[in-house]
Amino acid sequence: MPSPAVPRTVGDFILYYYAKLVIAVSAGQKANYRFIIDQYKRLKSGEIRMSEYDREIQKLAQQPGLCVFCGSQGTTVPVEVVPRRLGGPVGMQNLVHACDECARSKDDKDLVTWWCDELGRNKDDLPRIPAGLFLKMAYERHTVAFTLKRRCTDIREIWEGAQR
Ligand SMILES: [Zn+2]
Repeated sequence: MPSPAVPRTVGDFILYYYAKLVIAVSAGQKANYRFIIDQYKRLKSGEIRMSEYDREIQKLAQQPGLCVFCGSQGTTVPVEVVPRRLGGPVGMQNLVHACDECARSKDDKDLVTWWCDELGRNKDDLPRIPAGLFLKMAYERHTVAFTLKRRCTDIREIWEGAQR
């Protein structure tokens, strides 16, 4: 699996996971590694932009009645993707709708830590909508901090301070 295309910086990691979790999933190509790498390279070169997918993700995130984590339909409450205590922004770009159960479980935990450590799910399997918002916010955060070129070896390192 490792190849020259494997991301090594925070910026590349974000684009790689964006290709994998947002673009590939929407194209129905979840397990197709070549397709993911192709989309990742197109993102890196600027041929496609995150913003082309942002609007769709944002629209889905605000859909009341649909839990973005488990997909159930019913009563939903707003949940912050990146909790305020970890520097999550205040605003719609950080809010998703979730069922009571998922909302209570996620609470103010970091998305990746909650998904992987508490639910025992795979980091390559993060739900598309919160993952898309998370990656977009992380990209903006690193852009203004000039840290997109920082070395990175894992999606957990994308949001500083999220691990503990
Ligand atoms: Zn749910």
